[in-house]
Amino acid sequence: MNAITNHMPTAELQALDAAHHMHPFTTGDEIAAKGARVITGADGVMLRDSDGNQILDAMAGLWCVNIGYGRHELAEVAARQMRELPYYNTFFMTTHVPAIALSQRLAELAPEGMNHVFFAGSGSEANDTNIRMVRTYWDMKGKPSKKVIISRHNAYHGSSVGSGSLGGMSGMHAQGGMPIPDIHHIGQPNWWAEGGDMTPEDFGLMRAQELEQAINEMGEDRVAAFIAEPVQGAGGVIVPPSTYWPEIQRICDKYEILLIADEVICGFGRTGEWFGSTTMGIRPDIMTIAKGLSSGYQPIGGSIVSDEIATVINSGEFNHGYTYSSHPVASAVALENLRILDEEGIITKVRETTAPYLKSKWEALLDHPLVGEANIVGMMGSIVLTPHKESRAAFKSDVGTVGYICRERCFANNLVMRHVGDRMIISPPLVITEGEIDTLIERAVKSLDECHATLK
Ligand code: PLP
Repeated sequence: MNAITNHMPTAELQALDAAHHMHPFTTGDEIAAKGARVITGADGVMLRDSDGNQILDAMAGLWCVNIGYGRHELAEVAARQMRELPYYNTFFMTTHVPAIALSQRLAELAPEGMNHVFFAGSGSEANDTNIRMVRTYWDMKGKPSKKVIISRHNAYHGSSVGSGSLGGMSGMHAQGGMPIPDIHHIGQPNWWAEGGDMTPEDFGLMRAQELEQAINEMGEDRVAAFIAEPVQGAGGVIVPPSTYWPEIQRICDKYEILLIADEVICGFGRTGEWFGSTTMGIRPDIMTIAKGLSSGYQPIGGSIVSDEIATVINSGEFNHGYTYSSHPVASAVALENLRILDEEGIITKVRETTAPYLKSKWEALLDHPLVGEANIVGMMGSIVLTPHKESRAAFKSDVGTVGYICRERCFANNLVMRHVGDRMIISPPLVITEGEIDTLIERAVKSLDECHATLK
């Protein structure tokens, strides 16, 4: 059999892909009809495809390539670690240097009082850990009835049965027997779509108070934890009104509900701080991490937990773990990624220079006739496409049709911008320069214009 390489014609690669490769969150028929775009290489913020196009990746892969593509230091660390100790686990009274070093570094970076890490292979696995950890914590504290975890509609916490249940994606819940028991969902702080005549501040407060209502309805002795992304990502980059998080924090404190901040997207500089919790001013008990932890160069996730939770969990045996928890190669690569983020001042530069620059350009898109709202925090942003800005109307066609057209125009213009319904979202590598931001905006405007023209 001939080797399959980047040098094969695109159509041949696409045919083989359609024949054998099942894609996540994709309709197989569409892959068979159109063929998937074949990505062959990448450098900085640019992807290359098999037809030689240079595509600006305004999504950093799946929100993860924070330090950008092509950092050979990470490849070298991986190769060195593979030669030295390619694999060992940390079950049954063993450990290794990459696990020790990475957990120590994460404890330094995390908010005060969060000095312990349980590793996983992904964000989904880490959130599954969290489900078991918070329920075990309350069991061990002698409060076994505290089992319910409250989350939000349109949240995304992963795709395993547990983490998909925590998430609030109705399309996911419709398949495969989710949600599991004792997960409860409240409303999301999406003012544009659901705020009606309320001010954003009143709406944010109202949505936060749904947590208190749920706790009171179920009884505080049944509720274990509340989980949320500091800024919803896959739901459409929904930045909560300023009143939202302070009220959530007040309620969690009042009723002794653990607060799990899902930092899988927001962590490691995406919001201009090491963690989105800092940007939003919250004090979580657990933070879910993945993606930017290794900039996607290796699959790794984890849960950073408070000293209080670690003390309780460590007092017994936590019957949980994955073969690839604390994988030495993934841990070594993550550590090198954290070194680069820190020593090159990448997060400081985002906060002080490039994110303010992107914000000014992104908000100027409001002048476009299709754009009704522009949200942005650090290096994650959304615009909402609307036929009528003043009434915040949605398009009459199926929700998402216009967003889909816009996304396809972006692809044609060599820009990866994703759509969630009729929201267009970006999350570029943190190393994007001002010149590259200009290119991103130029390609976005061209795509918006072309999308607008198709609607006339
Ligand atoms: N949590 C959040 C907030 C995410 O955005 C994601 C993935 O997009 C996950 C969890 C799941 O992470 P993974 O895909 O690594 O399992």
